[in-house]
Amino acid sequence: MLQTAAPVVTNRQPVAPAVGEGLDWAALQPLLLATFGAEVTETWLTPLQPLGWLGGVLTLAAPTAFFAMQVQTKFVPTLEALLSEQTGQPVQVQLQVVPAALRAAPAAAPFAGTFQPLGAPSVAAAAAAPAAAGWQHSSKLDGRYTFATFVTGKSNTFAFTAAQSVAATLARGEAPGFNPFFLHGGVGLGKTHLMQAIGHAVLATRPNTQTMYLSAEQFLNKFIKAMQDKTQQKFKEIFRGVDVLMIDDIQFIAGKDNTQEEFFHTFNHLLGEGKQIILTADRPPHALVLEERLKSRLGSGLTVEVHAPEEETRLAILRTKAESMQVQIPAEVLNLLASHIASNVRELEGALNRLVAYNRLTGQPITEALAREQLRDLFKAYTRILTVEDIQQKVANHFNIRMADMHSPRRAREVARPRQVAMFLAKQLTQRSYPDIGRSFGGRDHTTVMHACQQIENLLPRDPQLAEHVQLLTKALTGRSL
Ligand code: ADP
Ligand code: MG
Repeated sequence: MLQTAAPVVTNRQPVAPAVGEGLDWAALQPLLLATFGAEVTETWLTPLQPLGWLGGVLTLAAPTAFFAMQVQTKFVPTLEALLSEQTGQPVQVQLQVVPAALRAAPAAAPFAGTFQPLGAPSVAAAAAAPAAAGWQHSSKLDGRYTFATFVTGKSNTFAFTAAQSVAATLARGEAPGFNPFFLHGGVGLGKTHLMQAIGHAVLATRPNTQTMYLSAEQFLNKFIKAMQDKTQQKFKEIFRGVDVLMIDDIQFIAGKDNTQEEFFHTFNHLLGEGKQIILTADRPPHALVLEERLKSRLGSGLTVEVHAPEEETRLAILRTKAESMQVQIPAEVLNLLASHIASNVRELEGALNRLVAYNRLTGQPITEALAREQLRDLFKAYTRILTVEDIQQKVANHFNIRMADMHSPRRAREVARPRQVAMFLAKQLTQRSYPDIGRSFGGRDHTTVMHACQQIENLLPRDPQLAEHVQLLTKALTGRSL
């Protein structure tokens, strides 16, 4: 069960001074026990693994996003205060989600067990490494983008597995198997997330790995700056010193000839040295506007497409996000979002965030009605796509009549009723007017359409079979119930 009581901070026992100038994680345990109590320490703090200690920032690995969230909100402030006191400098605690399976055995991780303040030998060595010149490395990674928080489904399992395999090879200290690893796909489908997850996983097991993540745009800007400042040599050294180079949205360097050239050299150099290169783009290598030789090199490793998630995966993503935000959202609201926002995970998340923010600001419960109201703009965009022809086709198939019967003057009941249903749905699900709909049904008068809509509306409460047909059709056409 969750511990909700505030940590006990009084009653603190004096603690042996830290070993040398640093702190010993093991030696901290009594202090943690005294401060937080045995239950909290064992449940929430002992499972955290120290990953790194640099510049007053202590990075700890948590096994899941939920775990990290709990620790963050309940214990990190006190932990930071304690560590600041112990080290005599402001300490910031950063949590990183590292699934247990990807963690190193304690002996393999240089930071496990002890951590040292800035200036201690291992850190000084890291700071002296060329890539640490200010815009390096794990600080660039978004803590949320880990394998643990990535939800998989048919659309992205292959990309996920490939990314994990790249990470696992590097974590074992082996030469890259897929090089470069090239992820491509539409906007907001998780390319950046997967790329950074590789970075996190590698750093979790090998914190000294020189990883560098940057957008192609940043690469471009740094390159231009280096030319202006005449520091090209330093620029070269920095990039050529990395073990894992991640460049996001590589399509941005298309057409930038000098940058392309420099990128190509860096790229070849790193490949030659057996360093891992990971790239993303909005299209596959051969479709990029780049020099041929560069395109062919980019596609020479493993190229994987990330597809738009199917509805089931969208739903799973929403559930995971809701859980990590610690909000209860009714299933019908999640279904509504998953069925309407189909093309982009970022938009899906955005919709969820909007509802949660609204709920927190106004206190109104998140209901289906609220979601429809608040997200009207998103849903409208969806309804607009639906045409009268789509509806006619669907209804004709459903009732097993010919499309031509939608337009024909035939008044036999077996075609007249489905036609009325189609008119009714056209009015409900599109923005078209009565006369306009009439024209799409073989030039019928607008009063005929009005009459059809009225008739179906009257029948719905009394005719459960018809109601079910209408429900099924609505769901098939829009993904939601009427
Ligand atoms: P891209 O780089 O392809 O444009 P991002 O990686 O930035 O997309 O993803 C957009 C947002 O959607 C991010 O917040 C990311 O965490 C989230 N996201 C995308 N795919 C998934 C997934 N499969 N599971 C969880 N979150 C995802
Ligand atoms: Mg991206």
